[in-house]
Amino acid sequence: MSATGALLTAEGLRKTYGRTPALDGVDFRIRPGEVVAVMGPSGSGKSTLLHCLAGIVTPDAGTITYDGRQLTALTDAERSALRRTDFGFVFQFGQLVPELTCLENVALPLRLNGVRRKTAERQARHWLDRLDVAKIADHRPGEISGGQGQRVAIARALVTTPRIVFADEPTGALDSLNGERVMNLLTEAARDTRAAVVLVTHEARVAAYSDREITVRDGIARDLAGAT
Ligand code: ADP
Repeated sequence: MSATGALLTAEGLRKTYGRTPALDGVDFRIRPGEVVAVMGPSGSGKSTLLHCLAGIVTPDAGTITYDGRQLTALTDAERSALRRTDFGFVFQFGQLVPELTCLENVALPLRLNGVRRKTAERQARHWLDRLDVAKIADHRPGEISGGQGQRVAIARALVTTPRIVFADEPTGALDSLNGERVMNLLTEAARDTRAAVVLVTHEARVAAYSDREITVRDGIARDLAGAT
């Protein structure tokens, strides 16, 4: 952790696609266990910011420091290893592996980290249970609802006990009731494990779930609490 108590810090992030500036000098900071909502209109740069923070996209300029390490200075292999062990991901459409059962999907990140099948599946079952979807453990993603799929995706994101969960519109494809349930489950489960959450969302009631909100407009982030 840095002297400021931040787990992940970004300074002066810039990213341009062709002539489109996606990020135009963004600062960001998140502390351990903090839930930060990233709001803003479509095309404002939210997903680009999230992908840069998670080490998926390399910014053209700026620095990202995670737990005292400069993300941009790591090799691709070091960044992927970090993503597998320290970061969890939830996307808009779950993005589960269609050929695997829900249980196998949740166990997958542990298996990739070298955990034995039995242990991985036991932990996966615990998380499916925690997210109220134990009964669909043996179903494949094509046989379950969107809301169930997102619960499975949250279980998969948390099974490795990551220090940060990156969630990109996790309720964007759900109706409002399911959206609220999924948002509750995600933020509660993250709080239980003390994972920080970077949450890109349009959810209107996001203040109820987050500690802090920032808005991104035209690639520029504004911290509503003025704390970055
Ligand atoms: P948001 O998540 O707020 O909708 P994005 O970060 O997806 O915004 O996009 C910000 C801007 O960058 C948009 O103008 C978008 O068209 C552009 N952009 C994002 N990703 C790419 C890409 N891979 N190639 C080209 N342009 C991109």
